Amino acid sequence: MNFYQLGAFMALLWGLALGSFVNVVWYRVPLKKSIVLPPSSCPACGQFIKWYHNIPVLSYLLLRGKCAYCKAPISPLYLGVEMLFGLTSLICWLFSANHLAYYIVLYSAVALTIIASGLVVRWKQRN
Ligand SMILES: [Zn+2]
Repeated sequence: MNFYQLGAFMALLWGLALGSFVNVVWYRVPLKKSIVLPPSSCPACGQFIKWYHNIPVLSYLLLRGKCAYCKAPISPLYLGVEMLFGLTSLICWLFSANHLAYYIVLYSAVALTIIASGLVVRWKQRN
């Protein structure tokens, strides 16, 4: 694996983690919950989600979209958001002329996401 391929892999992982975080923000902020504590839990049974059940995309696929404890279905929207961010980050890496361009494009996307998150949160609060 050369440096370019390693960078692409890291960009994918970074995007997946970012998507996972955006899911947390979109879920918790409208409920006026902290985005840090307590750790993630199943909305159906309340069990805290172990770290290995909380790996973006991979855990969703391994658990077949269900809670590891009560088997309640988990919305595919979480998977979709994680994949969207992962692929966006990867595409930014692949089409950036250099590392600086990647970070500028990616952080612009992050800024837009934060703004969009704010709009989603406000929309959810009103509806
Ligand atoms: Zn559960």
